[in-house]
Amino acid sequence: MSAAGSVRGPRPAVGPSRYGAGRDDLVALTAALGAPRYRAAQLWDVLWRRRRPLEDDTTLPAALRAELVARLPLRLAPVTVRTTDAGRTRKWLWSTGDADVETVLMCSTRRASVCVSTQAGCALGCTFCATGQGGLVRNLAADEILEQVMRAQHAGAQRVTHVVFMGMGEPLANWAATREALARLQSDLGISARRLTVSTVGWVPGMRRLAAVPWPVTLAVSLHAPDDALRDELVPVNRRWPLREVLAAAHACAQTRGRRVTFEYTLIAGTNDHPGQARALARLLAPLGPLGRHVNLIPLNPTPAFPGRAPDPPRLQRFAAALADEGLRVTVRRTRGADIDAACGQLRTRVHPPGPARRAGVGKNARDG
Ligand code: SAH
Ligand code: SF4
Repeated sequence: MSAAGSVRGPRPAVGPSRYGAGRDDLVALTAALGAPRYRAAQLWDVLWRRRRPLEDDTTLPAALRAELVARLPLRLAPVTVRTTDAGRTRKWLWSTGDADVETVLMCSTRRASVCVSTQAGCALGCTFCATGQGGLVRNLAADEILEQVMRAQHAGAQRVTHVVFMGMGEPLANWAATREALARLQSDLGISARRLTVSTVGWVPGMRRLAAVPWPVTLAVSLHAPDDALRDELVPVNRRWPLREVLAAAHACAQTRGRRVTFEYTLIAGTNDHPGQARALARLLAPLGPLGRHVNLIPLNPTPAFPGRAPDPPRLQRFAAALADEGLRVTVRRTRGADIDAACGQLRTRVHPPGPARRAGVGKNARDG
């Protein structure tokens, strides 16, 4: 992590941002600065393959580096950074100037995963979700998504091995930026598609688009209910694309790439955690065969505008066992980082309670805090 935590004032935009610039932009920029051509490749390497910020680089000449720092602005300014889990989980709340977004880095011995936001807020209003409770501010651009990964990389000792699109927002409702970020995480950061996971609430047109890309990106679909009546209540977008359509799109996505789909199910005590609902969920997934046998259970994290709570551990176990009895593979997401509000949209809620979209100064430029 960079030693400096200062937030500098706005800079006039002079071109693409640091993680929006492509290789051609870097060639043009280094040439404009009178540097030899090989510096462009060196700069690309510093930005994408070294694990420290451009500001801390020691391979480029100091004067050139200072010029590049000034001409390749960052788009995210840290608002808060919190660490827990003996330093293994870190969560940022960033300001983009006109909105706040979150990123979480989770490290274990074998992997370092970054959970990125794709939208500031979310328009889809799932009742139990803090992000949904606040509404949509705007889509993030691809460079804002990529910068979240790189800033997390700069803060962690390990190389980032996985990126999950499971932070604030619905990635498939912001398809152009999500697609570009997925492409550049492969081509620039060198992460294989299998280690990239897109989580969707069941945004069917986006699932069809994802099915058409050639990369075997992992798909996760958030279900939360085994029938349309309950899902209509918890996930309002179910009224537009009901379970039948969501599962057909998930099946098509899985088939075209031969990749299994994970189904996420947030468990809410007394609402969707009855063993009979587990059996109904298993029946619902049966037509997907081996492509749809994995359910990831997420005990509800409390949010301000939803009265529910997570089931107690024995009840959670009964639900998990009922799924397992039906032949499903069940995992339970550790509520890792709950003490730093590391669930979807919760750090933002803690800092800014739900209300009208916050408008702050524009164009802040900052380094890792
Ligand atoms: N919009 C996408 C991705 C972001 S949400 C989606 O809905 O899948 C990522 C996951 O966090 C989803 O499965 C979502 O249902 C879950 N989630 C949101 N709020 C939660 C909460 N308060 N407790 C537990 N899980 C939550
Ligand atoms: Fe949006 Fe996902 Fe939250 Fe639903 S759960 S409101 S789709 S971020």
